Amino acid sequence: RASSFDAQTSSDKGVENVVIIGSGPAGYTAAIYAARANLKPVVFEGYQVGGVPGGQLMTTTEVENFPGFPEGITGPDLMDRMRRQAERWGAELFQEDVEYVDVKNSPFTVKSSERKVKCHSIVYATGATAQRLRLPREDEFWSRGISACAICDGASPLFKGQVLAVVGGGDTATEEAIYLTKYARHVHLLVRRDQLRASKAMQDRVFNNPNITVHYNTETVDVVSNTKGQMSGILVRKLDTGEESVLEAKGLFYGIGHSPNSQLLEGQVELDRSGYVIVEEGTAKTSVQGVFAAGDVQDHEWRQAVTAAGSGCVAALSVERYLVHNN
Ligand code: FAD
Repeated sequence: RASSFDAQTSSDKGVENVVIIGSGPAGYTAAIYAARANLKPVVFEGYQVGGVPGGQLMTTTEVENFPGFPEGITGPDLMDRMRRQAERWGAELFQEDVEYVDVKNSPFTVKSSERKVKCHSIVYATGATAQRLRLPREDEFWSRGISACAICDGASPLFKGQVLAVVGGGDTATEEAIYLTKYARHVHLLVRRDQLRASKAMQDRVFNNPNITVHYNTETVDVVSNTKGQMSGILVRKLDTGEESVLEAKGLFYGIGHSPNSQLLEGQVELDRSGYVIVEEGTAKTSVQGVFAAGDVQDHEWRQAVTAAGSGCVAALSVERYLVHNN
């Protein structure tokens, strides 16, 4: 697909057409589309997750729900393929974190520790970070019993037909608990407070579900394993009595929220109360013309690889249209 925008002219003046920030499914998809439209995108991949590009899926094993891979694919393999596809079409990739963005002045400025780039447009695709409890054995069991995504992992053989637990008392946790009852034998909801924070409708759904037991005043202390090294339970403490016990469970799901990585745009682009970038409904347009957002940083609801990739596509096509009309 050829672009009607003369990409080369713009780059020659020392101002790039588009800078893409982030290397998850949203960033790489935007890079593939922008590169194929001959926009010569500059991509700051970042290295925040484990010191490698590729975003959240670098921290998981099997991805079973990304279309096109009937046998599943590992997260790192999927991200490596997206990266190679972006490179093949000419995206310029820098494995650097962006430290500063100025979208108040045009052309925009994007700065990492290594370079400063001026650009006409930006696709902001920095993702979100699932909040963790930082349990002592969390790293050991991450993706091997502990998960932050029921939709991603609920149907996995590791969890199917097992007793599971969800920690949290808000809408995310209650939704995860209800979702998991499709696959699990039983679900325990571990709530620190003496009540749920979730909406009344979600609370009713929880209370009416015989496969969910709510444990109030309950702190999640750690996970415990059996002699084979598999997760077998959760050490919990009752906050009112101080009593500790082990709850049998083969999986622990975090439903304690996500933090969108939107700090660089604070004070420049409209964010919602939780820090998600606000985009015009059904588009990738932010409150600043020429700045587009894609993926989890603007999506507090679905947070899936395929939705992130889809929004990355929308962002790149919007950039193309924006450049045609504004240059
Ligand atoms: P991310 O994947 O979060 O990528 C954001 C990128 O931005 C990262 O590369 C990061 O380094 C970069 N970045 C951040 N700040 C900066 C900066 N300042 N400068 C430069 N770069 C920066 N979804 C599914 O559909 N199926 C699954 O099976 C599945 N499993 C999952 C398992 C786990 C353990 C987790 C955590 C998530 C899983 N998800 C799954 C959710 C999926 O990973 C996310 O929805 C998706 O990765 C979001 O893509 P994204 O591109 O918006 O952001």
